[in-house]
Amino acid sequence: MNKSSKLHMKTDEFKKQGYKVIDWLADYYEHVEEYPVLSQVEPGDIRSKLPEKAPNTGRAHDEILNDMNILMPGITHWQSPNFHAFFPCATSGPAILGDLISTGLGVNGMSWATSPACTELETHILDWLVDMMDLPVKFKSNSKGGGVIQDTASSASLVALLCSREKASNGRTNENGSNGDFIAYTSSQAHSSIEKAVKIAGIGKNNMRMVDVDQNFSMDSSHLRQLIEKDISNGLKPIFVCATVGTTSSTAIDPVNEIGKICKEFGIWLHVDAAMAGPAALCKEYRFINDGLNYADSYNFNPHKWMLTSFDCSIFYVADRSQLINTMSILPEYLKNKTSTSESVFDLRDWGIPLGRRFRALKLWHVINYYGVSGLQEFIRTHMENTKILRSWIEMEKDFEIVTPTPLTLICFRHTKGNNFTEKLLNTINESGKAYMTHTKLNDQYIIRFSVGQTSTTIDHLKETWNYIVKTSKGMIEA
Ligand code: PLP
Repeated sequence: MNKSSKLHMKTDEFKKQGYKVIDWLADYYEHVEEYPVLSQVEPGDIRSKLPEKAPNTGRAHDEILNDMNILMPGITHWQSPNFHAFFPCATSGPAILGDLISTGLGVNGMSWATSPACTELETHILDWLVDMMDLPVKFKSNSKGGGVIQDTASSASLVALLCSREKASNGRTNENGSNGDFIAYTSSQAHSSIEKAVKIAGIGKNNMRMVDVDQNFSMDSSHLRQLIEKDISNGLKPIFVCATVGTTSSTAIDPVNEIGKICKEFGIWLHVDAAMAGPAALCKEYRFINDGLNYADSYNFNPHKWMLTSFDCSIFYVADRSQLINTMSILPEYLKNKTSTSESVFDLRDWGIPLGRRFRALKLWHVINYYGVSGLQEFIRTHMENTKILRSWIEMEKDFEIVTPTPLTLICFRHTKGNNFTEKLLNTINESGKAYMTHTKLNDQYIIRFSVGQTSTTIDHLKETWNYIVKTSKGMIEA
């Protein structure tokens, strides 16, 4: 804020408008259930209401705040308790406030020296998380490994793949490019970001093998072995396997233990993507999702999905940080400083793709300290228990069938009248604005994904939505 300049916002105005913004947000959360969950606007509706040209003279901040009235119809309410689409982006009061301070400080934590607290808090919290979730200690900063916050799981997978590429070529690919014989493997149920990473990393889509899945949509490790052996016998080099714990379509869990043994045998980098599922390990009884992580070279999960932390915040661990740093490090003259060539600090710009880094650890600090471990466990347990109850209601309804196991909080179901009916039912619910769910296709069946995990979703919300789904389906049959 500025005390004298006419150009900038003065401290008093900043305070006054800042309080208004917080009031606006608090009011939004009070009433979030009243909005249609899925935005009902047509393409171009919002733009058509925006001025054609930027204002030449600045406007009062009150007016700018009022512009939210134009934008709100074009907002899909991810924080609504009736948001059950994709996976959640469950945020919370402390996360929003931590993020606000981070934005307010406006620091760029590219190196330790550009804000030591930014780097040290991040490393410290990620060490905490290893203990909180009983992850392998090799991921801790006092071992050979370490953790870093990436923006998204997609970036984490890309970084892991790049590390595997450099490891396999002894750093030569960064110098000379890929010679096209590296092969990456993942299951046909893995997230699309893996295919994207394979393209970006120059491995090439044709050098990506989609491993078959079993009847529960988990990777078939014997097929993985067959593919690897075939590629080796053809003179190719398997370098990377991505296993998924909690696939996007159905939260299927790949057999990481078996996959890990195969990776170890053939010297292949194993990345484990647990973008949604990871936080479940906060609770002892769900630590089965950590099985096999002792084999993982890298691991990722998203507090921005299911750990009350505002988007974006994705945790990425490596078992050997030298592989990561060797892959990502670059040190032009203008970034050199007293500590940049010393071993005493981490420069986190060498742990990911962008140079500049937001102070994301601050929102995580607010969340973990505000809720405490037990509060976070209660959050996870409540969703797990509510999902079981919802599943039992669906099972009791003879016109619906559940089509996959429910290891976590995603229920995949369909109407017995088949694909077209199920699709129409989903569209009708979403267009009503009462709830928002998305779909997938498994074995050519159109399936509704009901994802539980929003911060304020209670069993009453689930009951109301489920009753509405049943009532709508009956109405559609009678019509
Ligand atoms: N991996 C899995 C298993 C996912 O379900 C998702 C998104 O839902 C992603 C990766 C991509 O997440 P992000 O948006 O953080 O890149």
